[in-house]
Amino acid sequence: MNTAYQPEVIEQAAQKYWQDRHSFEVREDLSKEKFYCLSMLPYPSGELHMGHVRNYTIGDVISRYQIMLGKNVLQPMGWDAFGLPAENAAIQRELSPHEWTEKNIAKMRKQFKQLGYAYDWSREITTCKPEYYHWEQWLFLKLYQKGLAYKKNAVVNWDPVDGTVLANEQVIDGKGWRSGAPVERREISQWFFKITDYADELLEGLQSLTQWPEQVVTMQRNWIGRSEGLQILFNLANDDAEFLEIFTTRPDTLMGATYVGIAFEHPIAKKAANKDKKIAKFLEQCQHTRVAEADIATQEKLGIFSGFYAIHPITKKELPIWITNFVLMEYGTGAVMAVPAHDERDHEFATKYQLPIVPVIASAGKSTWDYTKKAYTDPGILFDSGEFNQLTSAEAFNTIADYLIQNKRGERQIHFRLRDWGISRQRYWGTPIPIIYCKECGTVPVPEEDLPVKLPLDIIPTGHGSPLAKDRNFYRTKCPQCGKAATRETDTMDTFVESSWYYARYCCPDQDQTMLDDRAKYWTPVDQYIGGIEHAVLHLLYARFMHKLLRDEELLNSNEPFTRLLTQGMVLKDGVKMSKSKGNVVQPQPLIKKYGADTVRLFSMFAAPPDQSLEWSDSGVEGAYRFLRRLWNFAEEVKPVVIQLNQQALSHQFDDAELLSIRKQLHTTLRQANQDFGRNQFNTVVSATMIMLNLIIKLNAKNPDQARLITEGLSIILRLLAPITPHITHALWQELDFGEDILKSSWPKPSSKATQTNLIDLIVQINGKLRGQITVSHESDNKQIEEMVLQQENIQRHLGDKSIKKIVIVPGKLINIVV
Ligand SMILES: [Zn+2]
Repeated sequence: MNTAYQPEVIEQAAQKYWQDRHSFEVREDLSKEKFYCLSMLPYPSGELHMGHVRNYTIGDVISRYQIMLGKNVLQPMGWDAFGLPAENAAIQRELSPHEWTEKNIAKMRKQFKQLGYAYDWSREITTCKPEYYHWEQWLFLKLYQKGLAYKKNAVVNWDPVDGTVLANEQVIDGKGWRSGAPVERREISQWFFKITDYADELLEGLQSLTQWPEQVVTMQRNWIGRSEGLQILFNLANDDAEFLEIFTTRPDTLMGATYVGIAFEHPIAKKAANKDKKIAKFLEQCQHTRVAEADIATQEKLGIFSGFYAIHPITKKELPIWITNFVLMEYGTGAVMAVPAHDERDHEFATKYQLPIVPVIASAGKSTWDYTKKAYTDPGILFDSGEFNQLTSAEAFNTIADYLIQNKRGERQIHFRLRDWGISRQRYWGTPIPIIYCKECGTVPVPEEDLPVKLPLDIIPTGHGSPLAKDRNFYRTKCPQCGKAATRETDTMDTFVESSWYYARYCCPDQDQTMLDDRAKYWTPVDQYIGGIEHAVLHLLYARFMHKLLRDEELLNSNEPFTRLLTQGMVLKDGVKMSKSKGNVVQPQPLIKKYGADTVRLFSMFAAPPDQSLEWSDSGVEGAYRFLRRLWNFAEEVKPVVIQLNQQALSHQFDDAELLSIRKQLHTTLRQANQDFGRNQFNTVVSATMIMLNLIIKLNAKNPDQARLITEGLSIILRLLAPITPHITHALWQELDFGEDILKSSWPKPSSKATQTNLIDLIVQINGKLRGQITVSHESDNKQIEEMVLQQENIQRHLGDKSIKKIVIVPGKLINIVV
């Protein structure tokens, strides 16, 4: 009597089996190769959506595959539990963020367990717990001692009605998200981590990240933004003592400078405002219309003449100084030399305010373009530049630099776009910064033995002011140095700090004497990291920086945290990204209930390769379910014979030509599937198992030879699918008496004997360069071989849209494609 496919029954049984045996709890083991697989730490929002499911299933498939390869695999899970959404939810619902967060974690943990993820739950981390942030505070103190954590004034978004600092995402059209009041820029003293000390190393380290997507490496490189240039001093007219410093990457254009632009916070702007009411009003206007850095390029460029002039360091001409809304005080020196003929932004501004445009560079050595219409921004040859005429841009860079350096008016400099990491948040739901302020002793670090500085859990934030700054029980304390009354720092740390070192803490989450122990050296770096492309810049950069800090504290012994990175594609519905705000979110819960977790996992791996977008399809889910049910029913049907045969099947000699051919197809498909598994191409692995099932389902189980092939085929299919659909394969592996635990079986290898018959390998070249290899049958004619080669993904990628001139085939040896 066959049993029907009942996902809920077999899934619960498999999960219980793993839980009872602690199947995924791992210890350090030097006799095995380690593999650390990690999906990015989730924020406990409470509900999983299909984007989550896809992300975490990818990580789980890789982990289970590595387990089956015999490696010692660590796959942990935890919660990025501090942050703004909990605080906002708490304000709206009038409850503590702690309560909201705990509830959400419980919900999400349950959902993760239903999906059968192979997590070592004994290592679960929750970043809002003192056991975790204790060590973050400890590291802060180390960095403070080294001068790598320091305080300086920086601009924030200030809501004058709520009396609170707003995050960029809380500013909507220049107004506070709750109060609707126009947001002001305000300078307050804040804590920073000196990431710029590591700028060179962060840049150079990118070269070692050969298993990261190129796009991510490029984004990191651009964010760090190293540029070589010249710092130039401009004297102020009528004031020899005062001068302006500007930085330029184009000193070759210096002779075309016609004005100087300064930030509205620049001291000269303030000086000008004291003399002129119109200027004062302009500064006030800039203050109110602060936009995010990314929007500065597109905002309307505004300016006002300051009344001051700068002296050109070579021509000694007077250049007017303009106060602008697009030169940033935070970047460089807050002043730029403007060369409207050779810079688009300067050109736009000069045209608007009718400032002179003086061209000095052209490709042919003289002006051949209409410089009143458009800037010429390429390098070229100098003209109208006095003694520098006829030099190329590159020559002029050096000659002008040397000239200014000799005259003590310049200095060669390397600038980075990267700024120090501002970690102060004027919020409640975060890690307290372990600093005490004393009237007598000044800034005093909390002594290590007094850590952790615990965050009070009973505060219900109101949205007015900083909750910690209003909580006397928290901020009132005694100075650790003189014992007099003192106050605590009430800023908390940016939540990016917690998520920048959690991967290392998973290695030793129970360690209560120090931040990390030797177990972290065993497991790190993470071998495979998985997450969204939206984290390509900040999270990954901060984690790389933190890894280097921890290495310098001798807590870790490698240079980079993540060896291989996979950025998964988006989940789309009707071509639109699934998101709460679009209202098109598909939740996994009802699908798990209807079809089982294996179906949900199978669909999300089958519908697209992991790094590409996945289009949601109800019929695709239905199809995944039908495949699993077909596999189940077939296995149940042949179960009695398979149980009889499964020990001997693999060593059997087939002599029937048709069976030999089917076996060959099985093993060539397996060979391809194994390659695809290695490069995380799970969608084609699933297709391979479908092909295999179609091959063996046609066979007759009553014929002993055919039954043997069915047995062999099923054992391959189950193992190939085990990482993707772990429950059904776990159940069938036992049902068919292949063994007790499929995870402990060996990974299937293609039999060379099965595939060699009549097969030859050919080298594939494009324009004589080795680009791949294919296996063809002796019988294949040239046309078939050509078709096969052109279908290879790898070859298609190399060919791109180049047109093929001819294809040369040297029989038995190689194929050369000429483009
Ligand atoms: Zn003191």
